[in-house]
Amino acid sequence: MLIKTGIPTIEDIKSVFPSEDRINKGPVAVIECYQEIPCNPCFTSCNRNAIKDFADINDKPLIEDELCNGCALCISACPGLAIMVVDGSYSENEVLIKIPYEFLPLPKEGDTVKGLNRAGEYITDVKVIKVQNPKSFDKTPIIHIAVDRKFLYDFRNIKVEEV
Ligand code: SF4
Ligand code: SF4
Repeated sequence: MLIKTGIPTIEDIKSVFPSEDRINKGPVAVIECYQEIPCNPCFTSCNRNAIKDFADINDKPLIEDELCNGCALCISACPGLAIMVVDGSYSENEVLIKIPYEFLPLPKEGDTVKGLNRAGEYITDVKVIKVQNPKSFDKTPIIHIAVDRKFLYDFRNIKVEEV
């Protein structure tokens, strides 16, 4: 279905997510790179060897969850905005999700913004916990978002309304 619509199904999504046990232990990367493309900055940006070396530049990235500490360096390195970090240890009812966000205006810490699914549809309001935008991120800021646990597999982006 992904090939036809460009939108991953829940089966596609779950195939690249770590186990919920791993997510609940602490931050870990989710790499939604579903197709073979000639690209590997995710691998070269990871200094913990959590992303396995590519035998072929077209290979899809493979991550070893236990080596990943959720540092998020790979998020800004990925030109396809295909990576996020999820942290199920954040609170009982919410997961913390770190996403790349290249639109303006950027949200501000403490803002409540619209949470969107992978089709760009509104699913729920979410809270902005942190905004990281250092020069080293090369114009791909990372936004930390607190999301209701029940949207773990649905949430993928935010919409910031101009005021
Ligand atoms: S979050 Fe950090 S440790 Fe995990 S895969 Fe990305 S760069 Fe490597
Ligand atoms: S850098 Fe991003 S787009 Fe490129 S292979 Fe890695 S996850 Fe896929």
